[in-house]
Amino acid sequence: MTPDHGQLIYEGKAKRIYRCDLPDRVFIEFKNDATAFNALKRAELAGKGRINCQISASLFEMLQSKGVLTHYVGVAAENWMVAQSVDVIPLEVVVRNIATGSLCKQTPINHGMEIFPPLLDFYYKDDSLGDPLLTKARLRLLDLIEESQLKEIEKQATLINDLLRVFFDSLDLILVDFKLEFGFNDQGKLLLADEISPDTCRIWDKTNNHPQDRILDKDRFRKDLGEVVESYEEILKRVQGVTSKPRNYK
Ligand code: UDP
Repeated sequence: MTPDHGQLIYEGKAKRIYRCDLPDRVFIEFKNDATAFNALKRAELAGKGRINCQISASLFEMLQSKGVLTHYVGVAAENWMVAQSVDVIPLEVVVRNIATGSLCKQTPINHGMEIFPPLLDFYYKDDSLGDPLLTKARLRLLDLIEESQLKEIEKQATLINDLLRVFFDSLDLILVDFKLEFGFNDQGKLLLADEISPDTCRIWDKTNNHPQDRILDKDRFRKDLGEVVESYEEILKRVQGVTSKPRNYK
């Protein structure tokens, strides 16, 4: 079902954003398109949009119940979310609990090393530049946000990591790393935005020690491991097992 949405505002790799009946809200359509390596690798994965929308909605509701401010309002259909309209800060905030991915490609740090306290990495969100890793000094030079807002983002990202880790652990899932985006609503409030899904998190099955079989996230697509949607569905099943159905947007 497609809700009665307004004009298309923006189309990204995994989502489309449309106007809503209220000026401070948007409809977000989660697409089945999968991309990796800055969209050099592409596929259509039936069911991915629905699964990511439902996982994101449940995770946003869990975080909101713990006091985290997010753009999430409700779900309008199985792959449609309603959110507060935000000006997204062009920053990808990555939190790492276990070393893998780009961290191990760019440094001699061993894959699988536990990182404590967790590592916070900032990337400048710009596909044409390949989303470069930023130093704090470069981030300040870019002048995207004020110093106090940067401190608040660091605090929120750390809190979100603490909450998500505990939640996933209770589902026998390991939160390896993930990417967050933040934005400001029309009242200038800082909100967690975008999505939290197996497209943006690395999640391993705690009950499986096999280095490839335990992967339940987008690395299955990146590394051609197969059963991508099935793995995403497994995460959704575990999340839904302990949460109520995401609230419907009327
Ligand atoms: N990530 C993301 N979008 C990006 C880059 C990274 O959602 O554009 C997520 C990715 O899925 C992983 C975490 O951020 O959970 C860290 O990714 P990493 O820096 O290791 O990059 P990758 O190895 O995916 O290139």
